[in-house]
Amino acid sequence: MVERTRFLLDEAQIPRAWYNIAADLPVEQAPPLHPGTHQPLGPADLAPLFPMALILQEVSTEREIEIPEPVRALYAQFRPSPLVRALRLEKALDTPAHIYYKYEGTSPAGSHKPNTAIPQAFYNKEEGIKRIATETGAGQWGSALAYAGAMFGIEVKVYMVRASYDQKPYRRLLMETYGASVVASPSMETEAGRAILAEHPDSPGSLGMAISEAVEDTVKREDTHYALGSVLNHVMLHQTIIGEESIIQMEMAGEEPDVIIACAGGGSNFAGLAFPWLGRTFRGGRKYQVIAVEPEAAPSLSRGRYAYDYGDTAKMAPMVKMYTLGHDFVPEPIHAGGLRYHGMSPQVSLLKHHGFIEARSLHQRPCFEAGIQFARTEGIVPAPESTHAIKAAIDIALEAKASGEKKVILFNLSGHGFFDLTSYQRFLAGKLEDYEYPAEEVKHALESVEV
Ligand SMILES: *Cc1c(COP(=O)(O)O)cnc(C)c1O
Repeated sequence: MVERTRFLLDEAQIPRAWYNIAADLPVEQAPPLHPGTHQPLGPADLAPLFPMALILQEVSTEREIEIPEPVRALYAQFRPSPLVRALRLEKALDTPAHIYYKYEGTSPAGSHKPNTAIPQAFYNKEEGIKRIATETGAGQWGSALAYAGAMFGIEVKVYMVRASYDQKPYRRLLMETYGASVVASPSMETEAGRAILAEHPDSPGSLGMAISEAVEDTVKREDTHYALGSVLNHVMLHQTIIGEESIIQMEMAGEEPDVIIACAGGGSNFAGLAFPWLGRTFRGGRKYQVIAVEPEAAPSLSRGRYAYDYGDTAKMAPMVKMYTLGHDFVPEPIHAGGLRYHGMSPQVSLLKHHGFIEARSLHQRPCFEAGIQFARTEGIVPAPESTHAIKAAIDIALEAKASGEKKVILFNLSGHGFFDLTSYQRFLAGKLEDYEYPAEEVKHALESVEV
């Protein structure tokens, strides 16, 4: 008999609610603080940036939050996403482990990011907002929001990190195809951007800088809101659609994961896959080994400090308690642009701080190697970010081989790499370099963090 490898659900099985981990957290969350006064933020402080529906989700402790019908209707363009058993990869590794991946690259933007872009555009539309300003690293968030903006008739302005703007011209063209306008960050269009360029004319940019520009753009205009593609609680919430589906699909496969893995930049695809499983643990279920994988060039969870820090370089975004490398830290221009962030989701950070999850950091070259092995066995070219999860899954599968254990591994394949082929070109030509963990720069940047 042919072994089953694809576990598919139909449209009617798209979950009706997102899972809010705040309902089950066994430890207390630290509130976000106002960047100016350092006092806890109230809903009114956030109202210039976000629609009230999202602000309420940010602080909600309801376990299930209903997914609005127009959002489910758009999810149906690409959800439920497939769960796949990586049988050919298992064979190549000659491992007794079973490896499953949830594939989020089937969305129009090619990653998990539309899972939150769609509801964010929807709630803004409901509140009468005409325009959204945002930042993007590798361009995946920008293209997800550009797509969602097109679906709801909202204008989208994207500040795109300079390093990616130069490395990934097709991402910019994708955003423009969806109707968004895109500028390289730091730009001359904002005070924050001009200040950075005055000091560092060749700045490769960073997510922290681009966030400052998008927030400044937002607060200067009545018709505009801001949208963040990761880090915040409401983003983690929307992404739980991934894990909710994976629970049903693993049941179809007749297995339960021992190890759950995802890459982590701001933490959203990791949270999306892992939180629904962790929720089961917190409600009295079994424990899973849950691993967030970061790049060695920006290892906030593995090497950062757990402290209140600003989400952006210009200190305009709220302060949150998280693992941080310092808001001044500018990561090396690694090809996994979506992982180049100094901070981490406060919820993911809290779970790490209390030992409910673990973190690993990896160099980009072995990750690309794993990505290529994956492409040559499973047929999918993964996003550079996703190769971090693949590499960690392969490492665990090889450990299982050495010890003869039959482990079940579930990882999130957060996106495809069709817009990242220049990175693959560099790797294949032997030109991709590894960056050492920049201990000195992090030490310097951490001096600006108040504990
Ligand atoms: C943005 C992105 C990431 C990193 O963001 P998280 O919020 O940590 O998920 C990872 N993979 C892909 C494909 C991305 O687009």
